[in-house]
Amino acid sequence: MARFYWVMLSLLLANSAAASVEPLFGRESYRDVQATLRQLESSYPLNAEVVAIGQADGGQMIEALKIGSGAVKHLVVATHHGNEYGSTEVAKSFAASLAESPVAGQTIYVIPVLNTAGFDSRSRREPAGGRTYDPNRDYPNPCGSEGPFRLKSTAALARFVEQEGIVAVATLHTYSPAVVYPWGMGRGNLSTHYDPIFEQLAVAATVESRYEVGNSAEVIYPANGTFEDYVYWKHGVWSLLFEVGRSHSPGDKEVADMIRVNVPGLRRMFEQAPRERAERHEFEGQCDFRLLSLDRHDE
Ligand SMILES: [Zn+2]
Repeated sequence: MARFYWVMLSLLLANSAAASVEPLFGRESYRDVQATLRQLESSYPLNAEVVAIGQADGGQMIEALKIGSGAVKHLVVATHHGNEYGSTEVAKSFAASLAESPVAGQTIYVIPVLNTAGFDSRSRREPAGGRTYDPNRDYPNPCGSEGPFRLKSTAALARFVEQEGIVAVATLHTYSPAVVYPWGMGRGNLSTHYDPIFEQLAVAATVESRYEVGNSAEVIYPANGTFEDYVYWKHGVWSLLFEVGRSHSPGDKEVADMIRVNVPGLRRMFEQAPRERAERHEFEGQCDFRLLSLDRHDE
């Protein structure tokens, strides 16, 4: 038996040694992500600072890297869905690139992981009180939601957007690949008053990736209670949803490619984003609850 344990220990040590030499995307823990944020803070003390967003149901502190010191504040949030580690990697790389070179006149917050417990268990949903919930169906919306705010994470993010006066948001998921904008629910008139501005931002974001762009419900599928519809409906925040890559379980090469094509696009999108929130952001379509059967809740 002793020999068996020695072999197991050797294997574990060998694995952790390998992990420290080269990154194995999708195999790191939330603590590793937090360590990366602190590394960036210490490497770029003038540009970057770790800030707390709030505590999740599982007890972990949801953290952002605050980058730059400009008056206009924007936000990138990744990993509403815990299994979508490709989105985490794009967010971390974008944070690193901004920390080296912030966008003039802007402060951009990057939250690499919102669903901290789901990230550690590699599951889309987040646990709370003995059940699990889909965080991106947990926000108030004009056509309702499965929540709202059954999760501390979504409530904390909503509070943060309000307190900080966030103007534009990129919310990162895997996979489609596409960059889309409101509205993501309802029928009839799915247009906003500012579709040409949304279209311009989506086009700016996809120069390198050449992802499909358009209305969320049409390009992806209808969903009630999403973050991107919520912040636009409630505050007029310019919100774009990125479905990056072509898999929920990309290999290292594919993750590197997702980073390569999305990091410059994200920067360009924020450089072109309006400096103020949208004025007219009411929903003018019709709610149709039969559409909920089309919500695929993609695992
Ligand atoms: Zn997702």
